[in-house]
Amino acid sequence: MYNLETLMEDVERKNPAQPEFHQAVKEVMRSVIDVVNENPVYEKHKILERMIEPDRIISFRVEWEDDAGNLQVNRGYRVQFNNTLGPYKGGLRFHSSVTIGTLKFLGFEQTLKNSLTTLPMGGGKGGSDFNPRGKSDTEILRFCRAFMTELSKYIGPTVDVPAGDIGVGAREIGYLYGQYKRIRNEHTGAMTGKGVGYGGSLIRPEATGFGALYFAQAMLQRKSDTLEGKRVAVSGFGNVAWGAAMKASQLGATVVTISGPDGYIYDEEGVGTPEKWAYMNLLRLSNNDVVAPYAQKFGAVFVPNKKPWEVAVDIALPCAIQNELGLEDAKMLVANGVEYVIEVSNMGCRTEALDYFIEHRIPFAPGKAANAGGVAVSGLEMSQNAMHISWSTDEVDEKLHQIMEKIHASCVKEGTLDDGYVDYVKGANITSFKKVADAMVQLGY
Ligand code: GLU
Repeated sequence: MYNLETLMEDVERKNPAQPEFHQAVKEVMRSVIDVVNENPVYEKHKILERMIEPDRIISFRVEWEDDAGNLQVNRGYRVQFNNTLGPYKGGLRFHSSVTIGTLKFLGFEQTLKNSLTTLPMGGGKGGSDFNPRGKSDTEILRFCRAFMTELSKYIGPTVDVPAGDIGVGAREIGYLYGQYKRIRNEHTGAMTGKGVGYGGSLIRPEATGFGALYFAQAMLQRKSDTLEGKRVAVSGFGNVAWGAAMKASQLGATVVTISGPDGYIYDEEGVGTPEKWAYMNLLRLSNNDVVAPYAQKFGAVFVPNKKPWEVAVDIALPCAIQNELGLEDAKMLVANGVEYVIEVSNMGCRTEALDYFIEHRIPFAPGKAANAGGVAVSGLEMSQNAMHISWSTDEVDEKLHQIMEKIHASCVKEGTLDDGYVDYVKGANITSFKKVADAMVQLGY
C-alpha cells in the first residue's frame, strides 16, 4: 500500500532542488494513488517508482560563437523519460529558466499527455538555458547547429523525435533539422514541427491552440454552452497563444488580452485578427518586445508588470509558461465570474490555484489534456513522414478534432464526481496513467 506523504518524501529526497518536478509528480500521484492501491499488479511491478524515474538523461555542452566573435557556452539536455508507448517524443525548450528539474517535469507530463492522444508516442523533453531574446538570426543559427551537433547522436525517427516548445519555433526547427540532416545524411522524420516544404504537417503550427479550443468546445457543450460571445483572457504571445486566440475568435469569442514578460495588453475589440497577429509574429521573429509596441500600434491598453488574470472574463487560457497562474490570480478570476479555465501551457497553474478552481466547481482542464493537440499533430506528422505522404489541411484538422474530443470523453469517464462535476485533472491523470502502466506491466521489466 502506498502513502502519498511517504512517497513524496522519497521523491523530494531523491530529486533535490527540483520543485517543478515534485509538483508535477504530486499532482499525478494524488489522482492515481487509489487506483494503484486497488490494483496490486501495479505495486508488484513497482509502476509508480518506475514511472517517475526517467529512462535516461543526456546532458551536453553547447559551444557557439556570438556575433562579436566571443565563444559562448550553454548547457543542453535531452530527458528520454519513458518509451513504453513509442519513441520518445516531446519538444525542445530554449529559455533562460531551463534546468534539469524543469525538463524532468515536462518529460513526465509529456509521457502522460502523449498517452492521452492514443497515438504511439513515448515521452521526452529537452532544451537549453540559452536565451533567444535579443539574439540575431545568425546567432540563433550557430546555436542551433552546435546544439544539434551533440543531440544528433541520441535521436532518430524510431528512437526519439524532438519538436518545438518555448523559444523553439519554425525557424529554429529548420536550423536544427538542417544540421541533423547534414550530420546523419538522412531525411527522415527525426523531428516534427518542420516546415511544410520539407516534410512538415499542415496545421502543426496552430495545433496546440486549435486543439485546446476544440477541448474547450467539448467542455462547454457538455454544459449546453457555446463560445459565442464569451470574453477570453489569453496570456503569452507565442505560437500557442496565437493558435488559441485565432480559433477562439473563429468560434465567436472575443480574446481581450495577451501578455509578454513585461506586462499585458487589454484590447476591448479583440486581439484575434490575422492583421494583429501578423504584426506580432513579425516582432517575435526579430526577437523584439511584442506587447508594448502592439498596444501602441493598435490603440490598446498596456498594463506593465502585471498578468491578465485581473481582467473580468468568462474563460481564462494560460498559454505562457508553468506556474503563471497562482492562488491570488485564481481568487480574482473566480471573484470576477470566470466560468471555465483551460490550461494551455504545461502546468500553467500552481497546485493551489487549480485546487481553488476545483473547490469552486469551475470546470478546469489541465494542460496535459487540453494542450495535447500540438503533440497529437506531431504524431500525425510522424505518420505522414513514415508513409511518405502529406494530408490536406482538412484531413489533419478533422483528425485533431476527433483526438481532442476523445481525450475530453476519457476525462469525463474517469473524472466525473458524485455531484456530476467533472474533475478533468483526475480524469486525465487516471486515463493516461493506466494506459502507460498497463503497457509497462505487459512488457515486463
Ligand atoms: N512542446 C509541445 C508540448 O508540450 C509539443 C511537443 C511535440 O510536438 O513533440 O506538447
